[in-house]
Amino acid sequence: MLNIKEDFHVHTSYNDHSAPDLNVASAVEYADSIGLKTLAFTEHVRRESNWIDSYVNEIERNNTKPNLKLVTGFEAKILRDGSIDCLPKYSADYFVIASFHTIYGNKKIWMNAIKSVIRNPDVNVIGHLAPDPTFSLDNEELIEICQLLKEHGKIVELNAKYNRPPIDWVLKFKEFNVDFHLGSDAHSLNEIGEFSRILKLVQVVGARS
Ligand SMILES: [Zn+2]
Ligand SMILES: [Zn+2]
Repeated sequence: MLNIKEDFHVHTSYNDHSAPDLNVASAVEYADSIGLKTLAFTEHVRRESNWIDSYVNEIERNNTKPNLKLVTGFEAKILRDGSIDCLPKYSADYFVIASFHTIYGNKKIWMNAIKSVIRNPDVNVIGHLAPDPTFSLDNEELIEICQLLKEHGKIVELNAKYNRPPIDWVLKFKEFNVDFHLGSDAHSLNEIGEFSRILKLVQVVGARS
């Protein structure tokens, strides 16, 4: 069951493209004010990111709300070779969403990359599947992904920004008892905890409010 009071995908001011009103402190205030119970910060990370210690400290300093659980994490890009763009010393210790941010076009590259990401023990969640709206998998390919997700205990994110995954994928994941959670992918304050764009996906999976 999904919990619509939990948002597992929120950005901060540590990237260069969030709205000016969004930072760690304002996100915590806002999330608490709308009654969220869990807020996961998942800033875009790269292997060369040099702000990580300050980001982690800032989240710790803002962990001040008794009714709001904060999670410190990263959104790491899935690279062509199936590795993630995050140093292992961080991915091992923090919550990690792995997402495709580049369209690899070639299905073989994509399949190999997603499979090695699902097998990666540092990855907790697969973010906004699939890579682009025109991309499709046949039934056998989808079943292979379902089995791997289940076997490795990976969570599939229902992403409100991209309205992903496609509903037929979600139905198939559900058949295989794959776990889901919700991510707004907020890049501005009022997108936090906002899942109205994906009500259909939420309905299909089932939610408690
Ligand atoms: Zn993303
Ligand atoms: Zn994101």
